Amino acid sequence: MTETSTTTADAGEATRSQLATVEHWIGGASVSGESDRTGPVYNPALGTVQKHVRFASVADVDLAVKTAEAAFASWRDTSIAKRQQIMFAFRELLNARSPELAAILTSEHGKVLGDAAGEIARGLEVVELACAMPGYTKGEYSENVSTGIDVYTVRQPLGVVGIISPFNFPAMVPLWFFPIAIASGNTVVLKPSEKDPSAAIWLAKLMQEAGLPDGVFNVVHGDKVAVDALLEHPTVRAISFVGSTPIAKYIYETASANGKRVQALGGAKNHMLVLPDADLDLAADAAVNAGFGSAGERCMAVSVVLAVDSVADALVAKVRERMSGLKTGDGTRGTDMGPLITREHRDKVAGYVDVALEDGADVVVDGRGIEIDGDPDGFWLGPTLVDKVPTSSAVYRDEIFGPVLSVVRVDGYEEGLGIINASRYGNGTAIFTNDGGAARRFQREVTVGMVGINVPIPVPVAYHSFGGWKDSLFGTSKSYGPHGFEFYTQEKAITSRWLDPSHGGINLGFPQHE
Ligand code: NAD
Repeated sequence: MTETSTTTADAGEATRSQLATVEHWIGGASVSGESDRTGPVYNPALGTVQKHVRFASVADVDLAVKTAEAAFASWRDTSIAKRQQIMFAFRELLNARSPELAAILTSEHGKVLGDAAGEIARGLEVVELACAMPGYTKGEYSENVSTGIDVYTVRQPLGVVGIISPFNFPAMVPLWFFPIAIASGNTVVLKPSEKDPSAAIWLAKLMQEAGLPDGVFNVVHGDKVAVDALLEHPTVRAISFVGSTPIAKYIYETASANGKRVQALGGAKNHMLVLPDADLDLAADAAVNAGFGSAGERCMAVSVVLAVDSVADALVAKVRERMSGLKTGDGTRGTDMGPLITREHRDKVAGYVDVALEDGADVVVDGRGIEIDGDPDGFWLGPTLVDKVPTSSAVYRDEIFGPVLSVVRVDGYEEGLGIINASRYGNGTAIFTNDGGAARRFQREVTVGMVGINVPIPVPVAYHSFGGWKDSLFGTSKSYGPHGFEFYTQEKAITSRWLDPSHGGINLGFPQHE
């Protein structure tokens, strides 16, 4: 990041100033590039612009890709042992300096410090997995498949891969991808969210400190211009994307049409089904934690509780009681829940309270105008609980991505399962029950990619893979775990025969085993 004063004006930002500009990171150095376009980076807890971020042009992206391409030749030839050592060094540095990164996350995203630390911890898991790269990328060997002939496979890196990440996990989502891509021998161009871009730069610098050669990991900032340049660049071999469903679909279609491998993780609307035999205190804790953690700006947030009629009143009362103890405010002050990412997003989310009222739902807790521990100009919305939400309402249908928890009442398991399976999204879901048979049926029958049984946010550990079904994932490859290594490597099968006096001479028939 450099101190610059630029002359470009962003809509609504009259006070272009001496604020810092977050620059690209290309070839191991801060690069401004040729573009004058920038965007504002807010401190959402203060409601003010704290920095600007450079928006790359097509030429800036081309420079990053060409730099990554040039670095690929020697990086793919760097020994596995050396690549592993760098990942181990990065793991140590990230672990030791995570409070620095957490402070950046809280400052630009708004999530509370404890939650920022959790995000980093889950990203660190993937770095640890990347250290185990040799076990995932080694090939297989069959001796003497035909007389004197052996067949074996090797997994080789793809080349330059592009990663495009969302605002809500500015550290964890890049960490889902780049450690595995790089450990596997690829070089990377990352385009983080323009709303909170500094974490990506911090991570890239830390990789350099860990010993990564310059040019292996590059970061370009920007908007659709930068994304499209990556999607269309002939040198980019694969795209990993995480973000909203319409953009994920666009990325999948465009990158596929340009001949790239694509994994595109989209949006979500996660349901939690609470059966009458569930432990209602556990379920209420889970609903509050998973509904309001990170102000509901998580792709695995629980946004709908499906409560079976016979326990719905009791469950809603328990959730409400727990909500009354939540402190909303500045994430550096020991609060439970921080602000939303922008003023526009906060206003949009708050607008769903009116939609709920118009659609006949009960607004049990209204988070608008609550008392906060922080600056009044921050992008605040308190935890909001809406009961008896009809499934026809936009409150139920839309991914709100904020601290609005809906309760939909159902008459039993079948109705609850039917609602979940009818949803266009299939990222995460959970069932709360003490009936093992019901839980087993649920895990078999539900059309969702990640399922929790008495666990509200079932994000798989790093050595399994993360991804949803339906409109929550485009492409066949999930992120990290075994899928991650498969995605970033291509298999080559070699059939070999070393000269033997008994070789068979001329035979134009299709090769058969002898
Ligand atoms: P977003 O789709 O607006 O942006 C994601 C990325 O795409 C950003 O880097 C952004 O700059 C870029 N982008 C935005 N509009 C674009 C366009 N028109 N053309 C090309 N690129 C564009 O998502 P967001 O608001 O940053 O993140 C929140 C969304 O991400 C939610 O829908 C959430 O569910 C989803 N998400 C999903 C997962 C998952 O694992 N499935 C994880 C985290 C977030």
